[in-house]
Amino acid sequence: MSFTLHGLGVSGGIAIGHAHLVTSASLEVDHYQIPEEFVAREVKRFDKAVKNVRTELDALEKEIKATQRGDASADMAAFLTVHRMILEDPSFTETPREVIARESCNAEWALKLQLDDLLAQFADVQDEYLRERKTDVRQVAERIVAALAGQGGVVPEKLRERAEDTILVAHDLSPADVILFKDHKVAAFVTDVGGSTSHTAILARSLAIPAIVALHTARELVREDEVIIVDGTQGVVIIDPDETVLAEYRLKQNQWKLERQKLSRIKTALAETLDGTLIELHANIELPGDLAAVKQSGATGIGLFRTEFLFMNRKDTPDEEEQFAAYKTVAEGMRGQPVVIRTLDIGADKTLDGTDLGTAHSALGLRAIRYCLSEPQLFNTQLRAILRASRFGNVKILIPMLVSVTELRQTITALDIAKAQLKAEGKKFNDEIQVGGMIEIPAAAIALPMFLKTLDFLSIGTNDLIQYTLAIDRADDTVAHLYDPLHPAVLMLISNVIQQANAANIPVAVCGEMAGDVELTRLLLGFGLRHFSMHPANLLPVKQRVLMSNLPDVEPVAAKILKSGDPEKIRSLLDKLNA
Ligand code: PEP
Ligand code: MG
Repeated sequence: MSFTLHGLGVSGGIAIGHAHLVTSASLEVDHYQIPEEFVAREVKRFDKAVKNVRTELDALEKEIKATQRGDASADMAAFLTVHRMILEDPSFTETPREVIARESCNAEWALKLQLDDLLAQFADVQDEYLRERKTDVRQVAERIVAALAGQGGVVPEKLRERAEDTILVAHDLSPADVILFKDHKVAAFVTDVGGSTSHTAILARSLAIPAIVALHTARELVREDEVIIVDGTQGVVIIDPDETVLAEYRLKQNQWKLERQKLSRIKTALAETLDGTLIELHANIELPGDLAAVKQSGATGIGLFRTEFLFMNRKDTPDEEEQFAAYKTVAEGMRGQPVVIRTLDIGADKTLDGTDLGTAHSALGLRAIRYCLSEPQLFNTQLRAILRASRFGNVKILIPMLVSVTELRQTITALDIAKAQLKAEGKKFNDEIQVGGMIEIPAAAIALPMFLKTLDFLSIGTNDLIQYTLAIDRADDTVAHLYDPLHPAVLMLISNVIQQANAANIPVAVCGEMAGDVELTRLLLGFGLRHFSMHPANLLPVKQRVLMSNLPDVEPVAAKILKSGDPEKIRSLLDKLNA
């Protein structure tokens, strides 16, 4: 039976393909029979996975002891103790072994059966504390399943062999999950939760595949292998469409592709407005592998390299040599064009292995530069790697989530230490490397002059600036309708930062999602912005808009929008601006 679901389209385009159901919880496990003679081996595989999880928990415990972060570390230690107790309970170590033997089934399936049993028992528990332990039980089971797979994340072996028309249907996907799709092509993905500027959505745009979030019930209603249509522009999913609908969407899909192809004609054109003002259009990347897309887009530089993606989906952190190689590849690949490398912005929805690290990593917690300053060794390694790569191109450093001058000073000191070390070791780097700051916290935007004195350039992170100004969690679909780039407070902050930076002759860019939204290109031009950084996939449509814009026409309307406090008026003025 055909039916339609509506969600939040976060990456445009149309995909038609077969559904593949996944969850990041990785408890969607396969079920298969194990031949009699291999049952003992399967039990051993299970024992090994339990042993690996034990080692993992030991390592985590050591790390917590070593870092000693007061209450947070006490909480974490308590949480680990609970996990260890659960892991050592016979219901986890023994029962699944018995199930494997009894049912001749794979270890994952045996664990799932046992987990279902345990979770059912929790349903009758009255005590709230005990009921909450349900999550812990589930998390321990997830760890074992991950250990069985020999890796974290949601890309199962099966996916590697799947056809390119695979459409992933998930309850939720972490950014760490989505980054894996770069290596394993999928046609689209849809999730039940998520906001339009969550990093999961941002990655979908950078992959240039259609994506829809906040569908609420897709994971429940869609069946494995069912034919589905994903219209990422309209935010619509059509399940089991009939032939007429399929034909209609195939036509739309072709039109979309044709329009994209047409745009490639302006790839080498200068991004110049009708009145002759030159605009810089740079690209945002996550991994060195994105360079090909950057080249195709005609970007004249990289305005944001989100380095945290080098740290995801792995148990260790990349060492100096590995980071140096990655930064050098990008610096050399851009042949003298600017490459802005942002220091590690981990925290909030971007956790290292896709797992939730708790309150310490909330959007208001130990994120980005705060995290780096609390991990001097990790930060030093990254700074040394960036510095060493700086002599292979036009590399600049960007500091995320700046809020105080003290943090900025501490960062400069950390950079000076890294420079002194390299000098003492006789290693070459660009001593004059420019240091910029992300303006993405309202406090930084309001008290901008304190940063203007020290920073060489600014980059406005509108995704976080909106999140923090409006107090809207960008990854939470229940408040997604309130996430509004056109809120007068947001517009005032952006316009003020641009004006003050221009007046002080400090280059300023916007590198949040607003920079890649063609509907906002003229508004930002009207505010005085001359430098945009966005996903390669958005660059040509934005360039086309730049080519068709005349600043003397655009500026007065942008000024009116800024003055108007009325959302409806802002909308109608914006329509006028884009007409
Ligand atoms: C932003 O906040 O706008 C930004 C570009 O950084 P990120 O999306 O990685 O937080
Ligand atoms: Mg940000």
